[in-house]
Amino acid sequence: MASATTLIKASYIIAFDGKQHCYLKDAELAFQDDTIIYVGEKYGEPAENTIDAYGKVLCPGFISTHAHLFESPMDRSFIEDKGNPRFYMSGLYENLPARGMAMDDEMRSVCLKYSLAELLRSGTTTVVELGPACDELAEYISLLGNRVYFGPIYRSARWYTPDGKQVLYEWAEDKGFKAMEQALEFIKAHENTCNGLLKGVIAPSQIDTCTPELLKESHKAAMELGTPLTIHTSQAVVEFNEMLRRHGKTPVAWLNDLGCLDENTLLGHAIIIGGSSWTNYPAGDLEIMAGSGCSVAHAPWVFARRGIVMESFHKYQKAGVNMTLGTDTCPQNMIQAMRWASVLSKIMERNTESTTAADVFNAATLNAARILGRKDLGRLATGAKADIVIFSADSTNMVPMRDPVKNIVYSAEMEDVETVIVNGRTVVEGGRVLGADIRELNRRVQEAGEKLWPRLSNYDWAERSVDELSPPSFPYLNERLENP
Ligand SMILES: [Zn+2]
Repeated sequence: MASATTLIKASYIIAFDGKQHCYLKDAELAFQDDTIIYVGEKYGEPAENTIDAYGKVLCPGFISTHAHLFESPMDRSFIEDKGNPRFYMSGLYENLPARGMAMDDEMRSVCLKYSLAELLRSGTTTVVELGPACDELAEYISLLGNRVYFGPIYRSARWYTPDGKQVLYEWAEDKGFKAMEQALEFIKAHENTCNGLLKGVIAPSQIDTCTPELLKESHKAAMELGTPLTIHTSQAVVEFNEMLRRHGKTPVAWLNDLGCLDENTLLGHAIIIGGSSWTNYPAGDLEIMAGSGCSVAHAPWVFARRGIVMESFHKYQKAGVNMTLGTDTCPQNMIQAMRWASVLSKIMERNTESTTAADVFNAATLNAARILGRKDLGRLATGAKADIVIFSADSTNMVPMRDPVKNIVYSAEMEDVETVIVNGRTVVEGGRVLGADIRELNRRVQEAGEKLWPRLSNYDWAERSVDELSPPSFPYLNERLENP
């Protein structure tokens, strides 16, 4: 049976010439099933379906290389504007563990679905997710249509603070290996499900919570499965100092010496490194990372919100590190991730010419495809997967249009994403996510928040209420108000 061909006629196409992205004006793209079969001036063959994209930009789908879909929506209205200086403002040791324990399966499930919808809404067609193994994932992928690289997380220890001053580690090495086994089983069981949209990555959670043996086994498993290994590394000053204390080496140097840092490794964050003013430790990590060929999943907003900046995206890129971008926290929006990465790096470099729209656009597309080993993602070219985002080119945010990538990186909003196609399937149309009832999802996320907040005190070391953990910006009053 012949497959249906869809032809898109667009005012602008951000296409791929085999080496880099390039622009085509008044051009056409055709795809058949899940694969692009033509990008150029005029297709000239009959097509069963035609999409009129005059006044619009065709853009490759974005790839977020770091996300926590099960809980990130609950960052909103809670995680902002509050940190513990004893932990150098990181949120990892107080708010997040308490919240993780206070969440139940239903909350995680609604967050997962909401997150998948939110990503699609901002043109993010592929996501690397680190989270608990969950049966609903495959079901939601079938429903919503995202491409997901899923890393069921596991570790040998958990961290906790008994007093808000020190971070301690509770080790259970056997549990780590057992959880790793289960992660591998999950990955293998889902290998050929969801039309190839669901794939696995190896995800030992954090460098400071894994034994060297668990990391070496993880590295071996990643090689055997031919899938990336991703791990939170150099994400906090506390972690950096803990690794120095344990091993006399920086997290990056230690991982490298273990033999676990190579072209297949995706470091989550790698922001608190030797050479950064946050560590005041001699430089050298950047060279190790570049020499190893590893990639970094840079999630600028989750750090910037805490006053922490990578020093700098430009320097990492210049050193030769394969820089990719992650959404991590809320909002799960790659347009914003690109914008933050570019602007923060410009500020660090005091140079508007550093970290251009092209640099961060490459990070969100081609560089991310590289660590996933996918020459068919992150680009609009014949033979690539039909993962396509159609941006408006004539909206308030997008005119005047001369340079589509600049307009997307510096001006576009979620509302300018009109259509999203993943693997040849239209999943967002007219700005509407087709596989989910967004109003209903929003309502359920609100409900989850209201159920979660009162529970937090049960899991905080000092039994603080949500308002103590995260004071509201202004007080809620319940009285008649007058302006004297
Ligand atoms: Zn993370």
